[in-house]
Amino acid sequence: MRTFSVPVLVVGCGPVGLATGMFLAHWGVRPMLIDKRDPMSAPPRAGVSLRTLELFRSVGLEPALREVGWEGGRPMQTILKEAGVGATLRRSGLPPRYTRRLETCSPADHRLLVMQDQVQRVVMAELPRRGGQVRFDTRLLDVEVGDEHVRARVGHVSTGEQWEITADYLVAADGANSEVRERLGITVPDREVLTRLNTAFFRADLGPVTEEWGTHFCLVHNDRVYATLLSKNGRDQWSSHIMDYPGKPEELTELSTDRTIELLHAVIGDTTIPIELHEVNAWEAAYGIASSFRKGRVFLAGDSAHVQSSAGGLGMNTGIQDGHNLAWKLAAVLHGHASPALLNTYEPERRAAARASVALLRSGR
Ligand SMILES: Cc1cc2nc3c(=O)[nH]c(=O)nc-3n(C[C@H](O)[C@H](O)[C@H](O)COP(=O)(O)OP(=O)(O)OC[C@H]3O[C@@H](n4cnc5c(N)ncnc54)[C@H](O)[C@@H]3O)c2cc1C
Repeated sequence: MRTFSVPVLVVGCGPVGLATGMFLAHWGVRPMLIDKRDPMSAPPRAGVSLRTLELFRSVGLEPALREVGWEGGRPMQTILKEAGVGATLRRSGLPPRYTRRLETCSPADHRLLVMQDQVQRVVMAELPRRGGQVRFDTRLLDVEVGDEHVRARVGHVSTGEQWEITADYLVAADGANSEVRERLGITVPDREVLTRLNTAFFRADLGPVTEEWGTHFCLVHNDRVYATLLSKNGRDQWSSHIMDYPGKPEELTELSTDRTIELLHAVIGDTTIPIELHEVNAWEAAYGIASSFRKGRVFLAGDSAHVQSSAGGLGMNTGIQDGHNLAWKLAAVLHGHASPALLNTYEPERRAAARASVALLRSGR
């Protein structure tokens, strides 16, 4: 079996793994990143927060993100409507004094909206230029944590070929159902399912509705559906969390294409608008924090360490911030600028952040 060595192996090329790789490369560590599939095909679930924009700005990615993102109206504003093109029931958002603070508190642009897939594409284009190696179609099969190294057995998904990677450290950014976490015997003891819902990603030309809303985020409540309607690009790309409808089963249930389109028409409020459905997923929005974020030389980051439903848009952002916290510390230790004891600060700092984001969501539910 072929064997080679890298300073850091990052498992998972979702937004957290890619961002972690990017931060490591920025601080002079050449990581290897692997993913069992091509994560660029995943739908744009999450959007970046102001703090995440600041972190990307600090590694020189702001111009590239500005090119792909869009200005989505005033941030943290929500509109409640009978339907996307229907009557407005309520508007809510930050009081003007806080909005003014948002405008001046950061060097990053608080209006800029960048979606998960755009972040992933920008990082993917940049990472190899900074010395990172990325391999898709490559799955972590086994991991052995030693005192001096981590030994990972990985396999090419298409051909079945296997090889071994020896790394000084491994970052498990392999998502909510983390296989690394399971292999290390780390559990998520208090996982609580908040709701079961269906999320649709689709194309529809609704005209300049976001201008009328003054935001990209609309909540819809009528007698046929309770859902969100989120603009992904200010034009024709949308997602909708379909949270409730008459007769919705308790258990997790897939929706047929026809039923999804029927519900989306109820969300939009116009049955004549053509809908091109990209994807619809049934999923459980849950809270949960792993019993440990670390086992020796292996660290969990992102959804593998904590999940916090999708409300509030904190999942991806908290995860990218884990990666930032971990990357500069790993770089400092690998370059000999700090003792490995520095790495002990990762878990308490990021556990506090995960707890805070879960608490925020619980208080708002
Ligand atoms: C519908 C929905 C809407 C959301 N909206 C928001 C939002 O608005 N804002 C927000 O911040 N968050 C949001 N989230 C949460 C956000 O999508 C996740 O927090 C984020 O994707 C987590 O990123 P990650 O990189 O940790 O994991 P993932 O994106 O799940 O990536 C994990 C990667 O690991 C790979 N992998 C898994 N196992 C292996 C293995 N053994 N070997 C190799 N590769 C492996 C997978 O293929 C995958 O590509 C939402 C989530 C959902 C479901």
